[in-house]
Amino acid sequence: MPTDLITPQDPRSQYPGPPTDVEIQSAPGTETAMSVKPDCGELSYKGSGKLAGRKALLTGADSGIGRAAAIAFAREGADVAISFLPEEQADAEEVAKYIREAGSKAVLLPGDISHEGFCQRLVSDAVDQLGGLDILVNNAGKMGKTDGILETSTERFDMLMKTNVYALFWITKAALPHMKPGSAIVNTTSVQGYEPSANIFDYAMTKAAIANFTKGLSEPLMEKHGIRINAVAPGPIWTPLQEADGSEEKLKKLGGKTPYKRPGQPVELAPVYVLLASQEGSYITGEIYGVTGGMGIA
Ligand code: NAD
Ligand code: MG
Repeated sequence: MPTDLITPQDPRSQYPGPPTDVEIQSAPGTETAMSVKPDCGELSYKGSGKLAGRKALLTGADSGIGRAAAIAFAREGADVAISFLPEEQADAEEVAKYIREAGSKAVLLPGDISHEGFCQRLVSDAVDQLGGLDILVNNAGKMGKTDGILETSTERFDMLMKTNVYALFWITKAALPHMKPGSAIVNTTSVQGYEPSANIFDYAMTKAAIANFTKGLSEPLMEKHGIRINAVAPGPIWTPLQEADGSEEKLKKLGGKTPYKRPGQPVELAPVYVLLASQEGSYITGEIYGVTGGMGIA
């Protein structure tokens, strides 16, 4: 599946259509357990020193979109700390291998970000082991599905809010005092924050909150700290999140509604994370970048 990212080619056929071979995994799901692996740029992403000497912490970077950003950051010259859940250790070890092969330092920080104490420890461990922090990517997220508001348990609602929204607040608050002017924060929101689907209405609420948090903080972070904050809004992307407590029926149509008639691959988002993290993005703050396969985030 990996294709060369430089040669012009028809983007409709660059990657496969909706997956036929899917297995529903219990959350969080891993790439190791997927029979059709996502393309996170392992064989294709080429760096050119855009993040030389930077120190980056990315949450949920053992797999999917976070993994693609972590590999790209390392190949652009950054040392990289990744956060993930303990049951994702095997995926995380693979990412660490790619980071080290790029000549960068890899720091593995397993733990559950739905707890404030862990979020604070995560940031201080990343700062200690990297020797500072210039880039924070708040990417970890939980999704699953629900049959409607009457079927949605308080436990599910609470876990979505804690993982997707509280952790963003806790980690950003803990990281900020360590970040100097020129540092950058990149959050992962979703098309769902703009066009919610009924069976993930609660997840979509968290993604709307992330976009709003990004815009709300952009002015004070620039005026007081010289720090940029932006978000990426992915469309349907082939990652373990889709298989994790997901719907097999929906999964088999993933990306089918886009004009590409296929899902996106994590590597197709990596250049946007790099731009928003790098000095090339110096005048970009408070923006939401859609990588939606044409679905839009109007
Ligand atoms: P993914 O499963 O590869 O990544 C999500 C990661 O979140 C997991 O790897 C896990 O490490 C982390 N995570 C979840 N709960 C956690 C917890 N309690 N503590 C610590 N870490 C936890 O899937 P992905 O699709 O790459 O997801 C990355 C981000 O992209 C998420 O925020 C997701 O909402 C967002 N997103 C994905 C899509 C898509 O179609 N795949 C679309 C829009 C937005
Ligand atoms: Mg994972």
